[in-house]
Amino acid sequence: MAATCFAEYLYAYHRLEWRRYVEGESVDLLAVSRELHACAEEEDPEHPVQKRARIEHHPEVAALREKLDTNAGLPQGPPSTRARAMAPHVKRLMQLRTMRAQTLGYRDYKDFDCEQNRIHEETIQSALDTVLKQHLPKARELIDRHGFSWATWFEDLRTFRPFEKPLDPEAIIQRLIEGLGLEALDSRLVVHIDPQGMAGFARLFENGRVHIATRPLDTPFALRTFLHELSHGLLYLYHEPPGHEKFLTPASDEFLAVVLENLLIDNVCTQTEQDSLKSVEHLEASRVALSAKFELDLWNNVDTPQQRYQHHYGRLLEVEAPECWTLDSFRSVDALLIQYYAIGYAASANLLTIVESEQLEGAALGEWLKRHLLARAGEIEIAAFL
Ligand SMILES: [Zn+2]
Repeated sequence: MAATCFAEYLYAYHRLEWRRYVEGESVDLLAVSRELHACAEEEDPEHPVQKRARIEHHPEVAALREKLDTNAGLPQGPPSTRARAMAPHVKRLMQLRTMRAQTLGYRDYKDFDCEQNRIHEETIQSALDTVLKQHLPKARELIDRHGFSWATWFEDLRTFRPFEKPLDPEAIIQRLIEGLGLEALDSRLVVHIDPQGMAGFARLFENGRVHIATRPLDTPFALRTFLHELSHGLLYLYHEPPGHEKFLTPASDEFLAVVLENLLIDNVCTQTEQDSLKSVEHLEASRVALSAKFELDLWNNVDTPQQRYQHHYGRLLEVEAPECWTLDSFRSVDALLIQYYAIGYAASANLLTIVESEQLEGAALGEWLKRHLLARAGEIEIAAFL
């Protein structure tokens, strides 16, 4: 069956994102955004992916997202300067998203997001509490021991417990193919390694191939990020939607990628790798769960973001510059997506218990993953995993 107009433009959009984020080219995403919005309005307006596009690719929303993503017209200089200048735009973007959600019949954007993903905010909050209970005390211990700071969080992570020598991404892929029988990775996955490039990025191209960008796998953080992108790849390659399009909603895509990433760590990594990857999990699961709590809180308390930011992140470590609340891309580019990322940690803990009790491993685990998670990825009920 030929690709629909919406699908064709979404593939075009993915190509442009790849060229911007991985190849560093200057590209015009807005022209494709306009077409995506027009197709979504006409083609299948109630389809979850297209319904979301009616908000995210609406010309006003898309233009402001683009401004924040490219820093257009915003001052250069230290993060605090840029963060302060972004604040009115981030708040305006929240307002625009809510206005679009209201034209689709929802109370506000948060209401749209919860309904679309068939989940209540209380369920999300309770899963976030579970994640924090499991990871926060250990994260705080690691922060104290290794001197992590808020301002240098990602640099600290990138240099944390380096491996003696970098792992070969192709060898990791072979572990999935030979160990779990995930053979589609063999011919349809293209890996690009760039020491200065993005930490991780995965996109499905219209030729059915998945391209993954990674940095060299020289630390647990780099390996974890690569396994996350590989998990996106598995979703794109094995998803068998009833229609003919392979696209997932961003929430299902992120949620399942985190769940799979953790399953892969337990099943294809050596014990030594697992030990260092678990430390990164305590740190990152805590950070994203607090980020999600802040994001949910922000929609009700948009006038006091700095206080709310300090309130939530203060549980992890000292926040020296609360005006930097605007800088996380989840605040602008991917609003309310962080929560699905964060609750993926709670779901993966539940799923790992099932995998262990059913004694699933090797090819049997691979088959189980294909049948229960990957093939039906577009229909999963996120709340059912929690
Ligand atoms: Zn992801």
